[in-house]
Amino acid sequence: MKSAKVIVTGIVQGVGFRPAIYRLATKLNLKGYVRNVGGSEVEIWIEGSEENIREFISHLLSNMPPPAKIESVHIEFSNPRGFRTFKIIPSAKGRIYRSMIPPDIALCDECLAEVLNPHDRRYRYPFNSCAWCGPRFSMMYSTPYDRENTAMKAFPLCNYCAGEYRDPNNVRRFHAQGISCPQCGPKLELRDGSWKLVEVKDPLKEAAKLINEGYIVAVKGLGGYHIAALATDDDVVIKLRRRKSRPTKPFAVMVLDINSAARIVELNNNAISILTSMERPIVLLPKKKDSPVSKYVSPGLSMEGIFLPYTPLHYLLVADIRDRMAIMTSGNAKDLPMCVNEECAKKVLLKFVDYVLLHNREIVNRVDDSVVRFTSGEPVLLRRGRGYAPKWIRLPSKLSRPAIAFGADIHNAGAIAFNDKVVLTQYIGELSNKEVAEDLLKYINFFVRVYGISLRNSVIIVDKHPKYLSRALGIELAEKYGVDIVEVQHHYAHVLTTLVDRRLWSGKFIGLALDGVGYGDDGNIWGCEVLLIENYSPKYKRLAHMRYTRSTGSDRDVVYPARMLIYFLSEFMDSSDIRELFTRLGIMKALPLGETEFNAVITQLKETTPVKISSIGRLLDSIAVLLNICHVRTYEGEPAIRLEAEAKDGRYVLDERLHNRMIMCGEGTYELDASPLLKELINILMNGSGRERDIKDLAYSSLVTIGRALAAIVRKVARGRRVEPYILMGGGAVVNDVITSTIKKELRDEDMYVLLPRKVPPNDGGIALGQVASLLVGELIE
Ligand SMILES: [Zn+2]
Ligand SMILES: [Zn+2]
Repeated sequence: MKSAKVIVTGIVQGVGFRPAIYRLATKLNLKGYVRNVGGSEVEIWIEGSEENIREFISHLLSNMPPPAKIESVHIEFSNPRGFRTFKIIPSAKGRIYRSMIPPDIALCDECLAEVLNPHDRRYRYPFNSCAWCGPRFSMMYSTPYDRENTAMKAFPLCNYCAGEYRDPNNVRRFHAQGISCPQCGPKLELRDGSWKLVEVKDPLKEAAKLINEGYIVAVKGLGGYHIAALATDDDVVIKLRRRKSRPTKPFAVMVLDINSAARIVELNNNAISILTSMERPIVLLPKKKDSPVSKYVSPGLSMEGIFLPYTPLHYLLVADIRDRMAIMTSGNAKDLPMCVNEECAKKVLLKFVDYVLLHNREIVNRVDDSVVRFTSGEPVLLRRGRGYAPKWIRLPSKLSRPAIAFGADIHNAGAIAFNDKVVLTQYIGELSNKEVAEDLLKYINFFVRVYGISLRNSVIIVDKHPKYLSRALGIELAEKYGVDIVEVQHHYAHVLTTLVDRRLWSGKFIGLALDGVGYGDDGNIWGCEVLLIENYSPKYKRLAHMRYTRSTGSDRDVVYPARMLIYFLSEFMDSSDIRELFTRLGIMKALPLGETEFNAVITQLKETTPVKISSIGRLLDSIAVLLNICHVRTYEGEPAIRLEAEAKDGRYVLDERLHNRMIMCGEGTYELDASPLLKELINILMNGSGRERDIKDLAYSSLVTIGRALAAIVRKVARGRRVEPYILMGGGAVVNDVITSTIKKELRDEDMYVLLPRKVPPNDGGIALGQVASLLVGELIE
């Protein structure tokens, strides 16, 4: 007789791990126990013959439930204690027990097979789930993940389901917390535009029929309400755009399966594995020329955002819709959080939709669909919601006290942190109104409560931007509890995010932040920063940045990028030349008040104290308007996104040495000067032949030139410095495929490798991670 204690770390709680261990141990006639310990560990004690113990260990990894992710296995042999049975026992008592809140897991193949099998008792059951799949975070009131802590507590198990729950041989339902069936689980209903119940036998089939007829239907899903409509009918899409007052912001399209996906986008193995992953995000992929999707779904863009059904409800609905695809966009009013309850659906969604398909399970926590794109061939998160949040992320060492980070105002996500763990909230939204602010506080409070954080012993972290609402919320909380507040510079935080995300624990690094706006240490607006960072220290050095452009600092500058273009051009042109250019190129109409606004901008720029800007995002916006690609920003990042879309399939047509002329020696730093690029573009637009003026080529060449100039600057600052061979990129603009691919290619020859974050978005949605990491200085274990 031998015995062994096995500690398994990773995603091993809430995914049917302990039942799988139970089955394996009993099959091999081993005695002992399995229990959850710590936050993301399972402890197994086994006793039996040496041969069986060895077999247990060798089968451990191959017998795991599909959603489990094992980080490490630690085995210790010792003396048997004489166990007579093998048991799943409750977690250890008398210690602070913090169990990781599992994210929602997409419908598994086995559950889908049951739903599609006419002889199965769960045939066409929209809420089928098992230990391997189904809602988790979105329906949890508190930890641990037990049925009574979830919205499923309102649905007691019927005898049949209870039997499965108790049966150790039932691989997917033994001890599975969220299971149900048509007899005991949630129910669907359909309501019309006046919230009157539509009496039908199968509300799901009826909803699909209505969508096929061109109606717009709100659908209560897993983490919130969606709005569903035909994606293949121009009139329907235009109707939806009109009702939502959403002229161009792309809609996501849910497709039944990979075959349907292949009809509308270019797929590769990498894309397929993300589309079918248990996180099942929206993935932005290149459109196919003969795609049946209406051009109004994502106007002016080269990519379509598509995703696969992640609950049986979505699968069954889309299966009955024409072309097996439908627009499935967040059910919200502009800038407000997605609806999660019937009160909101009645108040907000009935303005946009004709019918509502809903169910009677409470959505406890809102989780938006996550969004992934590819940049330079690698997947990058644009929005971290369902499937990813709220998995925690490890720090290199323990914090001396808990921390609460408030993120930034665009793409907001906050974070709480304790020991060596950072829990980012799910994507909250744009912090531009009180509803979103309330949501941020709600989820920060939720995580503070379930993880047992003492606010009085915490430190609160905010962005430096004096006008940020996130900052005001953080300061308010700090004052209420009388705790310390730490301000963290925006781009330093971006770079730290990448550092922690990519698990680079110490050393001297060059960070490259490419961004829209961030408040700089000198009170100017930053957004194109080359920083030298050593061991997370806030004593970073700003080695290079974009040359400052003087602006009026108006809120209209971001919405109407032609105003920004005036600022850039004013650095080297006089106002009469700019006016002539605007008139000849038809840019004057990009200003809502035309020439009146033009004159006002010129006067303001002369007469007021300028706000100085060093932002790559604003440069991209200006190029988009100069090339007449986008005149108004109707959604975050639109001009830059459409510039990138236009650059697809472009050729390089500018002077090959142009980027060298863009690098200037500033006061002890290098500066990137956009003027030579803009001059060259203007010269071609005003004097070039038709072929030279090809917008695709000019868009592509501009982005390549910017990438080359940035790479050249990085090369210059790295020279003579003993830095690690990694360039840590962060900020909203690093997802630009042409810029980042160019930088990557240029630097690879110098054995320098460009890294982007993988677990969190490089945009402000991931900045809270870097904010927390800023506390690590001096706490590193060398
Ligand atoms: Zn399942
Ligand atoms: Zn049941």
